[in-house]
Amino acid sequence: MTQAKTPLLQVTDLVRHYALPREKLLGPPPTVKALNGVSFEVQAGRSVGIVGESGSGKSTIARLVMALDKPTSGSVKLEGRELHALSRDELRTARRDFQMVFQDPYGSLDPRQTVARIVAEPLEALAQVSKKEQRERAAESLAAVGLRPTDLDKYPHEFSGGQRQRIAIARALITRPKLIVADEPVSALDVSVQAQVLNLMQDLQQQFGISYLLISHDLAVVNHLCDEVCVVFKGQIVERRTPQELFANAQHPYTRTLLGAVLQAPGH
Ligand code: ADP
Ligand code: MG
Repeated sequence: MTQAKTPLLQVTDLVRHYALPREKLLGPPPTVKALNGVSFEVQAGRSVGIVGESGSGKSTIARLVMALDKPTSGSVKLEGRELHALSRDELRTARRDFQMVFQDPYGSLDPRQTVARIVAEPLEALAQVSKKEQRERAAESLAAVGLRPTDLDKYPHEFSGGQRQRIAIARALITRPKLIVADEPVSALDVSVQAQVLNLMQDLQQQFGISYLLISHDLAVVNHLCDEVCVVFKGQIVERRTPQELFANAQHPYTRTLLGAVLQAPGH
């Protein structure tokens, strides 16, 4: 019998409840049940999409997978190692393997930093990368996303939204991660620019063998890049299929609603 390979990312029974400020003196504080037992895995070199409406828990999944937040219960394993059991030092080193791209290309880049510093920032956490090497690697990363070495000394305000998202992707790429978690990476961009950024992400996937955990409220976006799609509804995965299967034979009523939106959108 062949043994199953350890997944790159394994999420098991993830629960996150947020306590809200107490309204009454007595009794438990009210909670928001953002995630109610989410499980999925990403195999090395494969990409998984998470789709769902606003408030369904997608960004909560992203934060927990990136160890930016702690789960109420459940587990996140990267190559078999429990992420939420790592010490701060271990986590810092482990971060080399998984990076994040955020939705907002304006808010996620520090306006006072040069592009060189922004893109090289994940290297700061890793010991023994000299300033010279940081700059060289930032230039390589910029080249990989279609920007120029002369862009290194510019500031974020000198770029368009699409270019800023390229800078954010260059920053994520610089440690040569195995996994990139991208939370609504094109939602803030003009439709014409969205396809360019998604095509870039697809090229990088092929070139570097990156896996994406791609989060979007838009099924058409994940369809482009993912081998498998998890549909999230009220903090649970209600359907998990290949994009082809979803389009051909969606089971859950909520998925059908999502599909209706895709099929009615102009250009689809
Ligand atoms: P999505 O990204 O799918 O729009 P989120 O994961 O951001 O959804 O949020 C899921 C639910 O959890 C929402 O109801 C949201 O209001 C709630 N939530 C998210 N973060 C917090 C928080 N820090 N405190 C309280 N509630 C939160
Ligand atoms: Mg979100």
